[in-house]
Amino acid sequence: TYILGIETSCDETAVAIVKNGTEIITNVVASQIQTHKQFGGVVPEIASRQHVEQMTLVLEQALKEANLLPSELSAVAVTEGPGLVGALLVGIQAAKAFAFANNLPLIGVHHIAGHIYANALVTELEFPLLTLVVSGGHTELVVMKEHGDFQVIGETRDDAAGEAYDKVARVLHLPYPGGPHVDRLAMEAEEKVSFPKVWLEEGSYDFSFSGLKSAVINYKHNAEQKGEEITPSAVAAGFQESVVEVLVTKTMRAANEYGVAQILAAGGVSANKGLRTALKAACEKAGIPLVIPPLSLCTDNAAMIAAAGYHMFLAGKRSDYALNGRPGMELTSWNE
Ligand code: ATP
Ligand code: MG
Ligand code: FE
Repeated sequence: TYILGIETSCDETAVAIVKNGTEIITNVVASQIQTHKQFGGVVPEIASRQHVEQMTLVLEQALKEANLLPSELSAVAVTEGPGLVGALLVGIQAAKAFAFANNLPLIGVHHIAGHIYANALVTELEFPLLTLVVSGGHTELVVMKEHGDFQVIGETRDDAAGEAYDKVARVLHLPYPGGPHVDRLAMEAEEKVSFPKVWLEEGSYDFSFSGLKSAVINYKHNAEQKGEEITPSAVAAGFQESVVEVLVTKTMRAANEYGVAQILAAGGVSANKGLRTALKAACEKAGIPLVIPPLSLCTDNAAMIAAAGYHMFLAGKRSDYALNGRPGMELTSWNE
């Protein structure tokens, strides 16, 4: 079973073909990072326009690389939401046109379900499992008892982890997207500035990163007022430590409480070296298998959408041609 996946929720125009939900046949990603870099963030209008320019090219390239005929495909899976509405619509229109022209079923996929299912491209999922979702727009702990059954047990109350990384990067005058730069600086650091760790109420699986972000900003302002130089790597290392310790501690506590067979990491921030190392150590200690996708599958791609789409296809899920972009789409079970 070959599923064609399309992803355009933010600033990557991506098309992939995945066999049986596990094997990547082709995975084409046209990134707009170079375009948005000069603005220090994604400009929605420009993102939509670039998706329009890239969509057909990326789709043609994917089909050519896969060396498959449209008639050999079983379905078209496309990101339905959440994301930038104008960006989502470009992928959805392309998916509708391609599905209609080739008489294929259309399946709308939740972007975060896609991030979670990137792990299905690496290993067989074993339930119950816990996923730490850490991306540009989301920070969530999600428990799954079976395919498509998403139970969000905790989420951020303000900034997402990736958002905090990008904002701290901006304070340190690092290029966009800042996550990888902060990560690199933190790894190089010889000292660490101490920043607060926010745990919220006892037993809560929620997160909050805006206070930490403000602490970094204040630290820099205070230093500037005193005419002192800050050490960017020490700031990056301290910030990263605060983020990683909270993420890892809550993940392990939830893994224990829910008795999971597997822990997965998903989303762009799971590319973070500090997080990967700490999570690996904690999982080894707890004796729980950890799965983290390779870097290229942590950030936005369409293979993850095709992988999730495959399981929705098996579950009989289909979308009709009224499918629309849902910028604020919630992650709910697809079995209901
Ligand atoms: P969402 O998936 O929530 O809609 P998104 O698609 O924009 O948001 P992703 O593509 O999953 O997010 O991830 C991008 C984010 O990951 C950015 O905030 C980026 O800075 C961050 N990121 C990427 N690599 C690293 C890294 N090594 N360390 C920390 N953050 C990173
Ligand atoms: Mg992106
Ligand atoms: Fe994403």
